[in-house]
Amino acid sequence: MEFMTGVNEKETKEIKQLLDACKEGDVVKVNGAVHVIRDMGTVAFVILRKREGLLQCVYEKEKAGFDLKRMGSTTETSYYGATKNPWNLAHVPGGSSGGSCAAVAADECAYALGSDTGGSIRQPSSFCGVVGIKPTYGTVSRYGLIAYGSSLDQIGPIAKDVTDCATILETIASHDEKDSTSIARKSYDFTEGLKCDVKGMKIGVPRDYFSDGLDEEMKESILEAVKVLGQQGAIVETFDLSLVKYAIPAYYVIASAEASSNLSRFDGVKYGYRTPEYDGLHDMYKKTRSEGFGPEVKRRIMLGSFVLSSGYYDAYYLKALRTKALIKQAFDKAFASYDVIIAPAAPTTAPKIGESLKDPLKMYLGDIYTIAVNLAGLPGITIPVGKDSNALPIGMQLIGDCFEEKKIIRAAYTYEQTKASEKEDNLEGGR
Ligand code: GLN
Repeated sequence: MEFMTGVNEKETKEIKQLLDACKEGDVVKVNGAVHVIRDMGTVAFVILRKREGLLQCVYEKEKAGFDLKRMGSTTETSYYGATKNPWNLAHVPGGSSGGSCAAVAADECAYALGSDTGGSIRQPSSFCGVVGIKPTYGTVSRYGLIAYGSSLDQIGPIAKDVTDCATILETIASHDEKDSTSIARKSYDFTEGLKCDVKGMKIGVPRDYFSDGLDEEMKESILEAVKVLGQQGAIVETFDLSLVKYAIPAYYVIASAEASSNLSRFDGVKYGYRTPEYDGLHDMYKKTRSEGFGPEVKRRIMLGSFVLSSGYYDAYYLKALRTKALIKQAFDKAFASYDVIIAPAAPTTAPKIGESLKDPLKMYLGDIYTIAVNLAGLPGITIPVGKDSNALPIGMQLIGDCFEEKKIIRAAYTYEQTKASEKEDNLEGGR
């Protein structure tokens, strides 16, 4: 993810010095908040935050890769070069927060952050076999985060298990008046959801998410995991969510429109890169933007400018906004009957490096299971539920209604704990 620190230089220096002197297991108290240093690998993000929502510092020991401007699903277009999937280096880690997920999966750090506009926490978590949560829109301040699709972007943690994810979310979430989309929630006690109990919980499995296009092995593993929750007392039902096929066109219209507007400030004057040689102001703009943006970013700027242009605005942008509202309504209807909806986070396990970039449209279609959640502003968590025959991780996505993170955390934790105790029983049985 792309992040700037929200503290002044002096504070940053002090925090750096303090953290550089830490060892794993040390307890540090910074600005009144206590942090246990779990791991000081090469890519460690330490988030310090005052509950009042004023201070946010992301301390990066090293930068993790992500797709340029967070547009992409593979982390092959990172400024630092392609990131590889630690489970198989010939495969991508997913994206756009692929570097964060790969770093957690490779044990380079205890946790990392990602930003999820259309699945960039949940899809790479699935590809890398880690846990990633995208909270309800507005829960974590985006102050300091460079905007991609402002009405969709949300920051969330990526960690090795559900407990760490819930704990970090609890630390970084709060109302921030410096972010106009930040919401003041009634409670931020996400760790309260860490209960191994789904008795009576109603789980909906949308038929439309498990039909054509989903890899058979993924389908089997996820439905097997749903069965585990059923055995633990959850009431599982299948249902039709509807409108699923409209999510991709609506998302790419809205996200590109917002991106084209958000990125207009990168003109070589106010932010970022400026071309070294130019002849006048317009030439400077043109060269700066031609040289500074990669092909995928340019494609989205062109698409976004087109759908916002007069004559096409109603036909594309307005229509996409209407579709977004209908998708939200479909979820509202589903959550009137279910506590949690279960879905895949991607149609397949991690593809090979080089496979996806050849066909951008196909890559867009790969976002089918994650983007509707952003369009509706909902929380979603991905947890690992198995491996395919190539030993690549398979993830399962649990989606909750707005502000109902605790329910998805509870279901995810119950699955995780049940599997862990089964593993222990098997080990003991074999002794
Ligand atoms: N793959 C999606 C896109 O390229 C999602 C990216 C994201 O969530 N940042 O827009």
